Amino acid sequence: MEIKKMYINGEWVEANTGELREIINPYNQEVIAKVSEGDKNDAIKAIKAARKAFDQGEWSTTSAVERGKVVEKIANLIQRDKEELAYLESLNTGKTMEESRGDMDEISLVFRYFSEMTDDSSSEVLDSPIPNSTSRIVREPVGVCGQITPWNYPLLQASWKLAPALVAGNTLVLKPSEITPLTSIKVFELVEEAGVPVGVINLVMGAGDTVGAELSSNHEVDLISFTGGIESGKKVMQAASSNVKNLALELGGKNPNVIFEDADFETAVDQAMNAVFFHAGQICSAGTRLIVEESIHDSFVDALVERVKHIKLGNGFDESTQMGPLISNEHLNKVINYVEKGKQEGVTVAIGGSRPNDPALQSGFFYLPTILTDCKTDMYVVQEEGFGPVITIEKFSTEEQAIQLANDSIYGLSGGVFTNDISKAERLATKMRMGTVWINDVNLYFPQAPWGGYKQSGIGRELGKEGLEEYQETKHIFHNLKPEPLNWF
Ligand code: NAD
Repeated sequence: MEIKKMYINGEWVEANTGELREIINPYNQEVIAKVSEGDKNDAIKAIKAARKAFDQGEWSTTSAVERGKVVEKIANLIQRDKEELAYLESLNTGKTMEESRGDMDEISLVFRYFSEMTDDSSSEVLDSPIPNSTSRIVREPVGVCGQITPWNYPLLQASWKLAPALVAGNTLVLKPSEITPLTSIKVFELVEEAGVPVGVINLVMGAGDTVGAELSSNHEVDLISFTGGIESGKKVMQAASSNVKNLALELGGKNPNVIFEDADFETAVDQAMNAVFFHAGQICSAGTRLIVEESIHDSFVDALVERVKHIKLGNGFDESTQMGPLISNEHLNKVINYVEKGKQEGVTVAIGGSRPNDPALQSGFFYLPTILTDCKTDMYVVQEEGFGPVITIEKFSTEEQAIQLANDSIYGLSGGVFTNDISKAERLATKMRMGTVWINDVNLYFPQAPWGGYKQSGIGRELGKEGLEEYQETKHIFHNLKPEPLNWF
């Protein structure tokens, strides 16, 4: 089996220790690749390469238009190799090929969107209040960026970081999740093919507490952009304080989806399922916390249970499969324990609540789509992110109560509201303390709209013009056109 290498200073290299990690297909636990497992020393080597490339300035001083052309090339190469990339993503994550193909289209769009953001007010002239002077604002690259990504949307999350960082003129070191590196490795081949200069992009595989910790704490790194769980995010934040790095955190969520009795019933049921069961609920913005108006609660639960019975679990490469496995045995055990905790707290399992019995699914990390009712706001399963195919359902009877429940969380990533009352929908959208609120829809993203969390769901924004600004420093240049002594002293 070919060894997948890291990309440091323009070369494909093995880890300094020669260590390898086996990458597993979560559908059947087969080894699908052997990947170089880097450590702190590999991270340092990559950071030094990125530092040197930034300080030499070839990329950062190239015009933004030229950088945009290279990033556009990457978008085109991703489209060219879409099938191969989608195949690798499904093989490594277990998600269906249809989902992976959709991811690749979105990723290509992300690169294209940022490739076009090359004249976006990067420079601005102010009307200087001081006589005989000029004053202008320029936006410059931040410098060396450390980028750490999770396993659920491996390449999509990487694209939100790589594309703006490159267009803005930074150099970078990416560390993908140690269990899902395959599409990131492939995309680095494409970035190399697109013609990014040596040292500008570097890829180091390895664990969070080695490679990730070094990227977060190393003083030659100017910005750390992290997507992952809240506990790891806190460690990154702490480590980043050692040299007061710029910091961007995209963390978890336990996202409310509020259904009013006046919503279109069929649409709300359908979307409540879409909100959670894509990629087996392993989505940071999954609407796993359903909050349903009391008058329709029972019929809504019945309709959901009826639909959930027919979800087809299986191999992501089988066209009839609607939901794949969870990512790993460790994560499966987390989801099992999460639901068991709910049972101990007194929830009712309306459907699911265990692993499937189907013999064909026993070698994969499958968990049944699950609906938990009789949930109370202070329960662990209502407050904590499960990151699996599990919906908790609470009831409300007034609009105020719906808002209060939706906001009763340490998280603030996203939320949904379903109603045909436009004024009510707008009131909810205003009062819900989240980075994204969907009205009569769920889980929609596009590159033009910023993405990120309120409260403990994160700091900063990806995508949109804010996603580019994350990778820029703002400088004020004041020019005295008539210098003369002040003679104050
Ligand atoms: P994780 O926190 O376990 O790992 C994420 C990444 O951080 C991995 O690359 C890991 O190796 C690295 N890491 C772990 N410990 C680290 C440390 N001490 N220092 C530096 N790096 C470290 O998360 P995960 O299980 O891979 O991903 C799932 C989580 O990601 C969920 O909580 C989900 O909500 C969140 N997520 C958020 C968004 C968003 O946009 N807000 C998107 C996707 C996933």
